[in-house]
Amino acid sequence: MLLLNVRKTVGFFLTVFAFYSIVIGSSLAQESNTAPKRELISGGWSYHWGDLPKNPVTGQWRDSTVLWKPTTSPSDIPGRTDENIVWLKIDLPTKAWRDPYLFINSVDLTFQAFQNNQQIYHFGEIDAEGNSQFEGWPWHIIRLPDDYQDHPLYLRIYSDYPYIGLSGAVAIGDRFSLLNEVYTRGIMGLSFILIVLLVGIISTIMGSIKKDSSTAISTGLLSFNLAIMMFAENELSQVVWFSPLNWRYIAAFCYFLIPVFLSGIIIAWLKDKTPKVAYGVLVASSLFVLVVAALSAFTEFNFINAYPYFDVLFILLVLALVIGCYQQFKTLDLPGVIMIFGILTLFISLLLDMLSAHNLITWIGRSGQWGLISFSLASLAIYLVQDWKQQIALAALTEHLEAEVEHRTKELHSSKKQLEKLAREDFLTSLLNRRSFAELATTELSKAIRFNRPLSLLLFDIDHFKDINDQYGHNVGDLVLKAIASTTKETCREGELICRYGGEEFVILLHATDAEYAHVLADRLRNAINNIEIKHNDLKVAITASFGLVCLDKPSGFEENAERLLERLLASADKLMYKVKVSGRDAVMVSDLAPDTTSVR
Ligand code: GH3
Ligand code: MG
Ligand code: MG
Repeated sequence: MLLLNVRKTVGFFLTVFAFYSIVIGSSLAQESNTAPKRELISGGWSYHWGDLPKNPVTGQWRDSTVLWKPTTSPSDIPGRTDENIVWLKIDLPTKAWRDPYLFINSVDLTFQAFQNNQQIYHFGEIDAEGNSQFEGWPWHIIRLPDDYQDHPLYLRIYSDYPYIGLSGAVAIGDRFSLLNEVYTRGIMGLSFILIVLLVGIISTIMGSIKKDSSTAISTGLLSFNLAIMMFAENELSQVVWFSPLNWRYIAAFCYFLIPVFLSGIIIAWLKDKTPKVAYGVLVASSLFVLVVAALSAFTEFNFINAYPYFDVLFILLVLALVIGCYQQFKTLDLPGVIMIFGILTLFISLLLDMLSAHNLITWIGRSGQWGLISFSLASLAIYLVQDWKQQIALAALTEHLEAEVEHRTKELHSSKKQLEKLAREDFLTSLLNRRSFAELATTELSKAIRFNRPLSLLLFDIDHFKDINDQYGHNVGDLVLKAIASTTKETCREGELICRYGGEEFVILLHATDAEYAHVLADRLRNAINNIEIKHNDLKVAITASFGLVCLDKPSGFEENAERLLERLLASADKLMYKVKVSGRDAVMVSDLAPDTTSVR
């Protein structure tokens, strides 16, 4: 998960960069301390097309009878016709080297070096007919004889390739200085490779832990491909394994694969918005690799010779990709710009490399590698930007969700309260309903028993309520119920348990109230009900109620539990209320609760 975090990833990169700048910086500083004991050879070459004559007796080459022509550059030898062999000759600069060696950056294609009629070095084999085979493009370091300054150096070079001769730098000097320079270049190259490799590793890790992994994985594949290619072309690869031809095959194969991965990234990235041209590039570049591989495997064709064709194809394919996908890239804002930048830098740098390889411009050093790194970093940057955008979107979504959850929780809370209220209250009068009254009254009774506190229960029923309904209608009946409820609340003390016990029947538990006060209250309530002013068609609705009041002056004297006591209080109050009904209504009948004769202890 560490690598998912953009800040940490960037930090990781910076650390690696810092580390590498220290390593490279110190190696360069070391080099400048040991002032290079070598000299570049920039001129003094003569050439001769075709083989020199041979001494028939000794078999040694003879140069005295041929005309040597001077040339400024050993890579650009003028006047080649159909010759595959050229001879170069030079008088090497004189200097007292401790350990004289000649460094040649690269040779097209194979060659032998002679001094004083002795072959001192060869790369590849040139047979009796003067034919040879491609062996790769390694660098060469050639030990010179001690008396090298007394004799010219001859190079017999073979090439059936469009180029023949030396390419890149030629230098003479102490072995250590020459090698030090090559290794330093190699180590610098390795640091580039490491960067590309890191991009590959990071992309692959990201790809493997993310859901949508195709962009990351294709970036990872391209980066690994580039890293392998860069190592195959690195100065140090031939130190690890001296097989220039195989390294060349590996490099060429990876190089030919670049457009395959490039179009792969674009397709993974644009998904269903991918223009057809990207698929076209993928097919064309894959076909190219397949055809070239097949030709090399089954025919005389050497796939090194595909380079010039690939160069042309590569330019066309990349141009087609950029032009074909430009509109889509534009709609992707920042990642789109980075992608265009990445492809263009890759393209320009490889173009410069091609041009220098074809000797159309002078060699400018690792421009290709810069392009590869820049593209590799660009793909990672795109990935990071996308990831960053995703994280921002995710954060916004989370915030929104949290707010929503909070809002919903509040809603739920209030509906829960509402529900609890509904479950507790009578919907018409908002008085306690029967169930909650039973609960609360039981608790209250328990307390009264425990503290032996007096308590009374008042039950009343509206008289002839059916007639009210019949006469004035149900709505008026409801109004009467509500009015009675509020009148009761007003008449009773705060905190008294008032319940709508049935249709037009109410019950009140009067806590800490003895018979005397309860009776006063009951009468007061009866009067208040009588005085309720509800008018219908200017006629006052006459409202009366009948009351049954049961008092419990010393609750601790009762041996039954609170539930049972409540039951008996209600039954007793109901009986009293019924008696009132029978005896003319609109009155209060009081009694103390009789001891329970049926209860079992
Ligand atoms: P009594 O004096 O003997 O108590 O006579 P009564 O008419 O009050 O008694 P009865 O039991 O015959 O009628 C009760 C009526 O109360 C019947 C029913 O329609 C009415 N009632 C019950 N609940 C409601 C209610 O919520 N709203 C209204 N408007 N009427 C109700
Ligand atoms: Mg009634
Ligand atoms: Mg009734």
